[in-house]
Amino acid sequence: MTTTAAIIVAAGRGTRLGGELPKQWQDLAGRRVIDRTIDRFAGHRAIDRLVIVLHAEDLHLGAGFAAAGHLVVTGGASRSASVLAGLRALAGATAPAKVLIHDAARPLVSEAIISAVVEALDQTDGAAPGLAVSDALWRGAGDAVIGVASRDGLFRAQTPQGFRFGPILAAHEARRADLADDVEVALTAGLRVAIVPGSHDNFKLTEPQDMARAAHLLGRGMDVRTGNGFDVHRFGAGDHVWLCGVQIAHPRGLQGHSDADVGMHAVTDAIYGALGRGDIGQHFPPTDPRWKGAASHIFLTHACDLARDMGFTISHADCTLICEYPKIGPHALAMKAEMARIMGLDADRISIKATTSEKLGFTGRGEGIAAMATATLVKA
Ligand code: MG
Repeated sequence: MTTTAAIIVAAGRGTRLGGELPKQWQDLAGRRVIDRTIDRFAGHRAIDRLVIVLHAEDLHLGAGFAAAGHLVVTGGASRSASVLAGLRALAGATAPAKVLIHDAARPLVSEAIISAVVEALDQTDGAAPGLAVSDALWRGAGDAVIGVASRDGLFRAQTPQGFRFGPILAAHEARRADLADDVEVALTAGLRVAIVPGSHDNFKLTEPQDMARAAHLLGRGMDVRTGNGFDVHRFGAGDHVWLCGVQIAHPRGLQGHSDADVGMHAVTDAIYGALGRGDIGQHFPPTDPRWKGAASHIFLTHACDLARDMGFTISHADCTLICEYPKIGPHALAMKAEMARIMGLDADRISIKATTSEKLGFTGRGEGIAAMATATLVKA
């Protein structure tokens, strides 16, 4: 089985951020930086083992790591030496196939970046996240610009830097100098290193203001909202009904100002509800002749656009149609597909269900159809 280890390098003494302790031990929004970094890897499905490289003077601060099942290693005099210590600790009969090497001071590394690095290693000896340089580059002397430099082909290096284990261990063993990072070690040994997309949030805590920026990003959290919708339309004359965007032949039609698509109206109201932005009647007044006989996808599209304008992604919608007839089951897949198409979602994010009301009440007597819906919206 292919195994993947991660080495968290935390042996630095950097105190440029201020404070008594090196930055990886400082508090970031209620937890130590290093604990946040470890969690990103320990919680990742592709990572099987973690090695934490600590300075000899910090071993007492990391007393809990071994208890959590991680391998704790004492680092060396330089970053390169610390990485080598971590690699040697993994070597031997149980050596992993892949290893990711990450700075403890990048606590905001994303699940996606870790996955991208691990997956890229199926094709190449090395892979690391990079950000294309977008600012113009100057050459300066003192406080004056004395020239410009091309940014073509330049990237800002990030971590985790991932490698096939054997080649990077050999490269570090053969290294004769301290190098800036493990990609440089790999290149010196002739390995190929692929660039995967980095992230601006995956920055290294370096300057005092970086702590506040990281705390802000962590505190932003995720805005998850749930809305509900309910609608009823009565039966009248007609030979078909519209339900969740699908036309179904039926001896009676549903009455309403629009096409009376009761299911689509309930979903639309659920989205407005999650956004706290009123209901269909408020956005499309029944007194307005423009909406007479209107196709209900106009309403649903408006609600979806409003969600996107407000920064939300619609994660899921669930609709229950309540009626004795028509039978919904034969049309449910078509309804899912049509609702998904209108909403711009994958069909597996839409649920269409139906129930009778056991012949009780107005739906049971066949006087009309009711629908209820729930929508879940997320802003990351
Ligand atoms: Mg309605």
